[in-house]
Amino acid sequence: MKRLELHHWILIAMALGAGIGLPLNFAGESGAIDPAVVSTVADVGKGAGDLFLRLLQMLVVPLIVSSLITGVTGMGDLKKLGRLGGRTVGFYLMTSFIAIVTGVVMVNLFDPGKGADLGLLEAGAGAAPEIAGGSQHVGQILWAQLEGMIPKNPLKAAADGDMLPLIFFSIVLGVFISAVEHQKKPEESEGPYREGADEEIAEERSGAALLRRFFAGLFAVMMRMTLAVIRLAPIGVFGFMLYAAAGRGFEAFQVLGMYALTVFVALCIHAFVTLPLILRFLGSKSPVAHAKAMMPALLTAFSTASSNGTLPLTIQCVERSGVPNEVTSFVLPLGATINMDGTALYEAVAVLFIAQVYGMDLSLGQQAIVALTALMASVGAAGIPHAGTVMMVVVLSAVGLPTTAVGLILAVDRILDMCRTTVNVFSDSCAAVVVARYADTTAEPATE
Ligand code: ASP
Repeated sequence: MKRLELHHWILIAMALGAGIGLPLNFAGESGAIDPAVVSTVADVGKGAGDLFLRLLQMLVVPLIVSSLITGVTGMGDLKKLGRLGGRTVGFYLMTSFIAIVTGVVMVNLFDPGKGADLGLLEAGAGAAPEIAGGSQHVGQILWAQLEGMIPKNPLKAAADGDMLPLIFFSIVLGVFISAVEHQKKPEESEGPYREGADEEIAEERSGAALLRRFFAGLFAVMMRMTLAVIRLAPIGVFGFMLYAAAGRGFEAFQVLGMYALTVFVALCIHAFVTLPLILRFLGSKSPVAHAKAMMPALLTAFSTASSNGTLPLTIQCVERSGVPNEVTSFVLPLGATINMDGTALYEAVAVLFIAQVYGMDLSLGQQAIVALTALMASVGAAGIPHAGTVMMVVVLSAVGLPTTAVGLILAVDRILDMCRTTVNVFSDSCAAVVVARYADTTAEPATE
């Protein structure tokens, strides 16, 4: 018999979790089983899933730091880094923007919030996440994002899992390791010759080289740890599916069905039409072959709802799809934090839906503000479950909607989070393929 691969096991685990969880949920609702038993089973599932997610999260900070520093120092030349960085960020913003436009078009077509019963929604609403500050305008939001990127203390950023400032510091550190390692010895002609200067510089260079090799070693070890942890993915995935199915069932969809469907259809268009077209024409890669290589990462993203947690697997899978490590080690950690097409799309749809529920007719200009702030919110959102939901208050306040309105959509948020996180990870992987195609790396990306 053919040996099953990891993604087959993950799929089986998902089916099992849903297959056990949904009937349990029905039985609990109909009174055939004590609902307390069902919720205990759901909690046990969540417990198992959380353990797996914690193991993955344990890898993330050292992985991001070592991967980015290795990526930057491996490039050697700063011009090359600038080109790669520019292309990567440009590509990220472009795909997120296309995703938002898809969402905005869909929400205007489906009108999921028109005529929705606000009272019914409020009855089922959870508590909205707390946020500081009242309504802000776009400039303030942009400024806050910029400020937040620079860590006052990089070690604290690492300890708090603050990815954007950590990424910023890691890139800068990588750049300066390279600068010290490749500094020139003083030319005899330049100024007076100073005794011992050559030795000093040789010493500094070898220290910087040691740091480069240290981070490269750390990166290799982290990747090996990842391989070990992901063997447990089927258990974690089973637990999360059991939790989602037994704990929530389909109940949430009865009220928010049309809204959830709008987000889902828009995400599907982005994942099954836009990104494959980009892969084919810009990346010159077969979308089917690429999606197949990405399967373990996509399924893990779906069940954990965390692109940061999935990052170790994303790197493995994208390399399996033929993208050289030189590119993945820079593009993917950055992408897991700033490139969230699914989240950007979801933010825009959710806020426009809420506006419709409140009977507000947003003008084209206001919809443009929603699009722009949704883009910023997706850049600022951390790659963890529900981060997008918390960031949504930024978008709501930009168009003067009450920030507590987030509570209205919480009931279906977990399942939508699972879907949007999958799109986030897939979009990162597509970016890596396209960037690798145009990057002047030493290794040739394999074509299918
Ligand atoms: N959970 C998403 C992610 O990790 C972020 C979000 O909440 O939209 O990519």
